[in-house]
Amino acid sequence: MDKHKKLHKYEALHGLKDQMEKDNSLPLKNGATRLVFGTGNTEAEILCVGEGPGRMEDKEGLPFVGPAGKLLDKLLVLAGLERKKVFITNVVHHRPPNNRDPEPDEISAYGKYLDKIIKIIDPKVIITLGRFSMAKFLPNVFISSVHGVKHNIVWKGKQLIVFPMYHPAASLRNGAILEAEKLDFIAMGKLLPEILASKDDTVKLEQENLV
Ligand code: URA
Repeated sequence: MDKHKKLHKYEALHGLKDQMEKDNSLPLKNGATRLVFGTGNTEAEILCVGEGPGRMEDKEGLPFVGPAGKLLDKLLVLAGLERKKVFITNVVHHRPPNNRDPEPDEISAYGKYLDKIIKIIDPKVIITLGRFSMAKFLPNVFISSVHGVKHNIVWKGKQLIVFPMYHPAASLRNGAILEAEKLDFIAMGKLLPEILASKDDTVKLEQENLV
């Protein structure tokens, strides 16, 4: 990737963050301490999308820094990854009151920005964490049936690979989910080298063949 393109992504994400910080129409803004935009490698080929900030994230302004984040770090290692190789964001970027589930109108209000984050990062792989981010790419499926399964999708005209994973917070609450999630990350780690080595040309060709 040339230097100008790199700078372009970094600057574009900062510009978008500034825009979000100024957007008083964002529905969860008033109840939150700060915006949790996202963090990580702006050149990442892998984007992790969680649900929304919790108490620690709201305090620090960074995603996945609490107990679920500590587990996410360990899961990434099981897949041969580490934080600095991925970019991490959420479906909503302000903390919902008392960590309640985000509501459809909230998901849609923040979704405009999430779409822009995805467009700028332009990842090959999206790891969804939990059912709300999964539903953005894989509507009408149950996480209990599809967790860990590689999905090739066309999303907004672009070929993407989605791995729907359980939310790490669910794994912290349930040992059986934790065991399943560890196996899912290990299995994904075995597939990633080939996926990441594939050239964009191959992806385009596959897309052209889809009629
Ligand atoms: N849970 C999430 O979904 N996102 C975070 O950033 C932290 C916890």
